[in-house]
Amino acid sequence: MNIQDYVDIKSYSTLKVGGQFRYFCIVSSVYDLTSIWTIVHTDVRYKDIPIFILGGGSNIIFSDGVLDVFALKIEIKGFEIVSEEQNYVDIKVGAGEIWDEIVSRTVSMGLSGFESLSLIPGTAGASPVQNIGAYGAEVKDTILEVEVYEIETGKVFNISNKDCKFGYRDSIFKGEARGKYIITGVTYRLSKSIPRLPDYPGIKSYFIDNNINIPTLAQIREAIISIRQSKLPNPNEIPNVGSFFKNPIVEKVVAHKIKEDYPDAKFFSVDDTHTKVPAGWLIENAGLKGKSFGKVSMYDKNALVLVNKEGATCEDVIRARDEIIKIVKDKFGIELVQEPEIL
Ligand SMILES: Cc1cc2nc3c(=O)[nH]c(=O)nc-3n(C[C@H](O)[C@H](O)[C@H](O)COP(=O)(O)OP(=O)(O)OC[C@H]3O[C@@H](n4cnc5c(N)ncnc54)[C@H](O)[C@@H]3O)c2cc1C
Repeated sequence: MNIQDYVDIKSYSTLKVGGQFRYFCIVSSVYDLTSIWTIVHTDVRYKDIPIFILGGGSNIIFSDGVLDVFALKIEIKGFEIVSEEQNYVDIKVGAGEIWDEIVSRTVSMGLSGFESLSLIPGTAGASPVQNIGAYGAEVKDTILEVEVYEIETGKVFNISNKDCKFGYRDSIFKGEARGKYIITGVTYRLSKSIPRLPDYPGIKSYFIDNNINIPTLAQIREAIISIRQSKLPNPNEIPNVGSFFKNPIVEKVVAHKIKEDYPDAKFFSVDDTHTKVPAGWLIENAGLKGKSFGKVSMYDKNALVLVNKEGATCEDVIRARDEIIKIVKDKFGIELVQEPEIL
């Protein structure tokens, strides 16, 4: 195993911030994990050093300085059809596969389920962690089971969809089982049936503009990619971590009060007493779209995305975040909550 010391984090973070991992190792197989397990349990240097699991680094903000963790970058590959019936195909994917490459591959096989999740950065292994979602689709609706390596015991087993306790951008891997498992593979069930059209105004108008009446799976993927590219910065060109804040769910009375001043605002009813207010709307209407905060700024085409334009540090990001939260709170009385985790 090639265990490295003091590894620069920036190249493993799509936001390009962070100091160094104290220890770092690339994991290409479950066998590698077994070797690391033995090393960690026998070599005193690694005693009491927490393990951190890294995928594509697209949903995490790394702190400056040395992070006293043993970072394992999961690069376990694999793409295997495990079962096929008249209407569906079950595919097991290695956790280190690039998510969008899997989407592209399954779309070209004529299988539906992933197309609305096109172009989301990161790895397949991270897809269950926050139950990735976009355009009304969530990955949980395709997951059969998640193969995990239990860090404490070194055992490998499957966790069923039900036991993953998926929620909106949530699962046990973010909650009660956080830090307990390394996801090594995910088995998905994809459909051979005609794809469901994403019920989203931007997508419908894309098909109208392009004179497409009954879109194919590939055309749905193309539409999603085109719309995402027009709204989201490519992290390889402009460092970012996607949506920076969660959409707040507030009491209906709070949303009504805002609507009095902004009657055209589009909010979404959650239940009888709660409304979801888009965080991007709040930021934009607080006058912060495209605004710079030192070395970071809110993206000029999408108020929800914070971008690192000039070699910012984690401290710069946190300072900007706190300023944005304060400005939005002062204006609308709603406290934004950051979406990506901070290590
Ligand atoms: C431009 C952009 C657009 C985005 N759009 C969306 C979107 O539309 N919808 C959406 O849901 N997300 C979106 N994201 C967020 C991000 O792409 C997803 O959350 C993605 O699943 C993260 O994958 P990753 O491999 O980069 O995970 P990382 O950022 O490396 O890790 C994220 C978390 O998962 C854990 N983890 C990663 N791999 C494993 C593993 N094998 N086993 C156990 N734990 C693991 C990490 O420890 C960490 O806690 C976007 C991000 C960007 C930059």
